[in-house]
Amino acid sequence: MIRIMGISAATLTFHGLFNNLKANESSKRHIITLAWDDGFKKSSILTAEIFEKYNLSACINVIATGHLSDFKIPDKYQVTEKGDFGLWNELKARGHEIMPHGYKHANLKNMPLKDAQDLIQACLDYFAKNLNDFKPERAIFSFPYNDSSPELEDWISDKVMAFRTGAPPVINPMPYKGQFRLTCVGGGPDSIEEDLEQKIKALLELPSGWLIYNTHGLNGEGYGPMRSEFLDRLLNRLVSIDSASILPMGKALAGVIK
Ligand SMILES: [Zn+2]
Repeated sequence: MIRIMGISAATLTFHGLFNNLKANESSKRHIITLAWDDGFKKSSILTAEIFEKYNLSACINVIATGHLSDFKIPDKYQVTEKGDFGLWNELKARGHEIMPHGYKHANLKNMPLKDAQDLIQACLDYFAKNLNDFKPERAIFSFPYNDSSPELEDWISDKVMAFRTGAPPVINPMPYKGQFRLTCVGGGPDSIEEDLEQKIKALLELPSGWLIYNTHGLNGEGYGPMRSEFLDRLLNRLVSIDSASILPMGKALAGVIK
């Protein structure tokens, strides 16, 4: 008798296989997104390589003008080199998600509404011009400093598919059609390894939920970094958890928004 992975061919009907696949898919009750902000060149290249090792897409949120020579460093955690749109297009072609994280990484809440709207629009326009296949209606805008106002959230809601700002809530509901406000948590300025472990543990103890954890760089780069070895070990462990999916934000939402 032919045996496939210990199952007899007689029991492995197409129907049975299909049901097994469906059961596997519906067993996903937790989503973990590591949202890599600011677009550090060195860390982004390494992050993408580590995610690829596990056949995963990384969620990389970049500043439109971060690579330009006249880019003004917005805070003391962003002193190292940013990637450019050559790199972002390459990583996107390799299956990673590249999404907007502001035109120049200004705190949009702390300025007149019109100025903030103009900066968001300039960011989306820059992406449309420089990132292959970029469509605002499929984009998730991650607010710099995870800081937004009700007025800005209201305004941006019909410009992009969704936006990301700071918690609360710490845990998002599982993706649903019409979900456009996503929230995240994060840590720093030192290593986030312990905090991230705790947040993932707490998520997995819930019946269901979607944790978006704001990460930045690897091996000392950016606000609240982690070691590349830690990321490698973490992904290695997470991919073996049946209830969990590791997804970028857009891909998670695309499953429910046609
Ligand atoms: Zn940022």
